[in-house]
Amino acid sequence: MSYDTVREPDPATADALVAERERQNDTLAMIASENHVSEAVMAAQSSELTNKYAEGYPGRRYYGGCEHADEVEQLAIDRAKELWGADYVNVQPHSGSQANMGVYLAMLDPGDRIFSLDLTHGGHLSHGHPKNFAGQVYEVEQYEIDPETGRLDFEAIREQAEAFDPDIIVSGFSAYPREVDWDAFQEIADAVGAYHMADIAHITGLVAAGVHDSPVGTADFVTGSTHKTIRAGRGGIIMADEEYGDAVDSAIIPGTQGGPLMHNIAGKAVGFAEALEPEFESYARQVVDNAAALGERLQEHGLSLVSGGTDTHLVLVDLRESHPDTTGKDAEEALEEVGIVLNANTVPGETRSPFDPSGIRIGTPGITTRGFDEEASREVADLIYRVVDDPDDDAVKATVSDRIDELTDEFPLYDRE
Ligand SMILES: *Cc1c(COP(=O)(O)O)cnc(C)c1O
Repeated sequence: MSYDTVREPDPATADALVAERERQNDTLAMIASENHVSEAVMAAQSSELTNKYAEGYPGRRYYGGCEHADEVEQLAIDRAKELWGADYVNVQPHSGSQANMGVYLAMLDPGDRIFSLDLTHGGHLSHGHPKNFAGQVYEVEQYEIDPETGRLDFEAIREQAEAFDPDIIVSGFSAYPREVDWDAFQEIADAVGAYHMADIAHITGLVAAGVHDSPVGTADFVTGSTHKTIRAGRGGIIMADEEYGDAVDSAIIPGTQGGPLMHNIAGKAVGFAEALEPEFESYARQVVDNAAALGERLQEHGLSLVSGGTDTHLVLVDLRESHPDTTGKDAEEALEEVGIVLNANTVPGETRSPFDPSGIRIGTPGITTRGFDEEASREVADLIYRVVDDPDDDAVKATVSDRIDELTDEFPLYDRE
């Protein structure tokens, strides 16, 4: 893809776009929520559908000229149903947060009760943080991760749910390295008479490929993003039992959105088509295998992993034991200098501030898209360790940075201009 057509009216933006492509080519994207979509998904996202108003749903739109918008949205819906086995799918949410907003608006009244995981324990803003709309409109109580085990404690969650009596229980997380037991959440939701929304934003691709257990058919609502492990471009998705379809449809439009981002829905259709190919299952399996290999190697170096390991695409490192004088931000900044881009993260039982927490979160979806296998992932763990162990040593950082240059050349990403 070339940005020459952008350069003509806007050289400044063209320069930034080219520089961003180079940045992605030349660094390892290990922020667990990020990935790299295909050129095909990007082409669909930059199509003429960005011009089209298609308020409504396929076959029932408010404006004319929607026949191709209908085709594209129906393809995205049909493919999503096949990927996740859902009865009802809405592919219009602009983001994962708006997917969650759609479910809340469909099922809750202002002041109703949401029970969800605390943000600093791995939850998400849209699960009811006080600065988020969900925390302002609804009454929120939050559960936590057991700091001893680094895992969900279903007995404690059940007791807290019984005392709080929520209207909806939210499961699904941003920084939880272990497989989630959806049935355990569903049993608690049933016991207290609450809806259950499973937010699989991070693991949409793992669930679609069958390498993580699916909440579809168990939880009342399953929400997700489409730009993380599923690689279908930026956006959100809602899945539910058919009986909730009308309520969710009208919560999205007219409830929370006007026209859908039809160009992004085209990206979803293309990304879902790619995910239906058998290679996608191998990709998802490799993502998890890479995270396991990377995590084990970090442990061999003496780093401590929350929950002692991973079942998913991410590991959460707690630096407090092995490197008490290095904060997550120190590690994040030193790693970014060498071309490994990841984020500082709070850990269960956090003793520092959310702005300079004790952990780092490391994800493998991006490097797996580039073609990294377990051996390459173990080497990345070695490189991460060298920098974390000595974040101020410029000689170490220069050596690691050279090796990242070689690795990114060996596993290329997007065509250079
Ligand atoms: C990433 C994420 C979302 C969606 O985020 P957006 O940036 O709004 O698309 C929702 N829930 C969880 C748990 C997430 O990790």
